[in-house]
Amino acid sequence: MRKERLSRMGMKKSERQFRSRLNQMIANSGLLRGTLTLRKVTCGKKCCRCAEGEPHLALVLTASAKGKALQLFIPKSLEGTTRRWIRQYRQAENILEKISLEHWDKLKKRKV
Ligand SMILES: [Zn+2]
Repeated sequence: MRKERLSRMGMKKSERQFRSRLNQMIANSGLLRGTLTLRKVTCGKKCCRCAEGEPHLALVLTASAKGKALQLFIPKSLEGTTRRWIRQYRQAENILEKISLEHWDKLKKRKV
């Protein structure tokens, strides 16, 4: 308990700022790990233009989780939200990486 308190006091300003930003993101933002890609698809209707070589464009969200491939078609109405969640996840991930590097530094300098 006491040791934790001391180490928090000894936290660099940069680490405090990273943690504060990460806390905000985790508390308030949608976070999603995945990739959004535009894919050419055919709908299967024989009389459709896609059957004549002019495919439809579909937004597909992909990721792998626990060794399985996840895939989800995203309607246009949810594209903005999906892109925002993905962007926020990457931002949170970048901040987490910075905090991790601060800890590499702590171990290196034996300032634990
Ligand atoms: Zn079609």
